[in-house]
Amino acid sequence: MRTAEQYIASLRERSLELWVDGERVADPTAHPKVRPAIEAVAATYEVAHEAEYAALATAHSDIIDAPVNRFTHLFREPDDLVKKVELQRVLGRRTGTCFQRCVGMDGLNALFIATWEAQGTFHERFVRWMAGVQTRDEVVCGAMTDAKGDRSLRPAAQPDAYLRVVERRDDGVVLRGAKIHQTGAANSHQILVMPGMAMRPGEEDFVIAAAMPVETPGVTMIVGRQPSDERKGGPDAGNVRYAGQEVVVLFRDVFVPNERVFLDGREDGHLQAAATLVDAFAGFHRASYGGCKPGNLDVLIGATALVAKEHGVRKASHVRDKLIEMTHLSETVHGLGLAASNKSTRHDAGVWQVDKVLANVCKHNVTRLPYEIVRLAEDLAGGLMATMPSLADLDHPEYGEALRSVVGSETRAKTLRLIEAMSYGAQAVPLRIECMHGAGSPQAQRIVLEREIDWAARMNAARRLAGLPEQ
Ligand code: SF4
Repeated sequence: MRTAEQYIASLRERSLELWVDGERVADPTAHPKVRPAIEAVAATYEVAHEAEYAALATAHSDIIDAPVNRFTHLFREPDDLVKKVELQRVLGRRTGTCFQRCVGMDGLNALFIATWEAQGTFHERFVRWMAGVQTRDEVVCGAMTDAKGDRSLRPAAQPDAYLRVVERRDDGVVLRGAKIHQTGAANSHQILVMPGMAMRPGEEDFVIAAAMPVETPGVTMIVGRQPSDERKGGPDAGNVRYAGQEVVVLFRDVFVPNERVFLDGREDGHLQAAATLVDAFAGFHRASYGGCKPGNLDVLIGATALVAKEHGVRKASHVRDKLIEMTHLSETVHGLGLAASNKSTRHDAGVWQVDKVLANVCKHNVTRLPYEIVRLAEDLAGGLMATMPSLADLDHPEYGEALRSVVGSETRAKTLRLIEAMSYGAQAVPLRIECMHGAGSPQAQRIVLEREIDWAARMNAARRLAGLPEQ
């Protein structure tokens, strides 16, 4: 398994086409807007070499018969799902942001199931490719989300809003389109494109799951902006080391050879397998939010307690009560992520799947509870969080000393900047929007809940107690 340093060095060996604010970036590891996100991914390599976390962060792969980083591992037993969520909390707390590697992990597992259902050579191809990912300990960018355009129109009516096959050759396919919201794409080694929704007959060209190295000709990456991202690397970053990253990835006639095509809508059974893929991925990733977000919120809650202490009100009863409220909301989300993982079931492919209802309830709560937690953090932090001058001003020869007596302690100033970054700034891209839309917007979870809940069983339970015949 790679170390964090080896991972960062490996990024310099790629020649990907990466753009930030209209400028082509030659070395992403040296760019102030990219490096903090690289550091967050590097933390996933770091923990794998720490004795305290080795049991969480590593696992034995039966594919290559060797230890692997958990982010490249299959969920071969229920404990793999539980450990995933616990590891995500550790990393969420360490980085205070999105560490970007879970979409790939959840995508690998979902595609393992889907290609197994599709049968034929596609599953074998996928496992061969995955063995390479595990052996090289690579970061996989799980690329699912299409631009989607007008939601009332199907893909065929607006093909440019979806990634699709535009040419089939004897030796592979040519892809055109884009994937948006690509977490950590510029910090990855491989892109794994997958359909972002179930498709219908007639939409076969939009059903494509395939992998390619990030530097494949025709792949163009454009890093997304974040609030206050100009502050990255400077005194007002808030989080002095880590940040998240989202990227638009353009596919401008990208050729993918057959050995890296894992689902193709023109093949028998692949439309249905793609629906399985989308469903399995949604479950995995919605439970993942029960790990990373409580980890991020640990940082925000800790920062809020720190500021309350600096303000001399930590022991005030309303402050204690608000901190407890923040904690109970965060632990609710974590409990749901763990519960969804513990109540898993085995798919015949040999991968364990989360409880879909609990995973969706977990993510649905993530679209709400962090908003209340952030509100309470802002309440306790006070207005200076939003009006404080730059931390660089504290060292100004003319007025630095006078300003320091206004701003208070270094602890107070730096912690307020961190709270600002986590509530309004660049942290986790930013935190609340990611909580709302990452792993699917709230309505997506409600749709799954309506479908998955056993309404008949509930109504019969009521009938029994009401003295009515069951139906
Ligand atoms: Fe992982 Fe959370 Fe980032 Fe998704 S949002 S990639 S689960 S850290």
